[in-house]
Amino acid sequence: MASNEKENELRCDSCGDEIYDCDECGVEFEDGDDIICFDGGEKHFCSHDCIEDYILDITEETTARSEN
Ligand SMILES: [Zn+2]
Ligand SMILES: [Zn+2]
Repeated sequence: MASNEKENELRCDSCGDEIYDCDECGVEFEDGDDIICFDGGEKHFCSHDCIEDYILDITEETTARSEN
């Protein structure tokens, strides 16, 4: 009987990708969490706060490079 340790495998309801943790804060997803699929499955976030932080980050990177 080969019963490999089954990892917690979560899949996004929207895009079907395997997901492990929030792309912004890094918190691990658990079954039943509200996972927010973003950018067609490129990113997954645990909350809208994390989406806003992420968007702020990429906006700053692309616009104000002199300001830090
Ligand atoms: Zn998060
Ligand atoms: Zn997704």
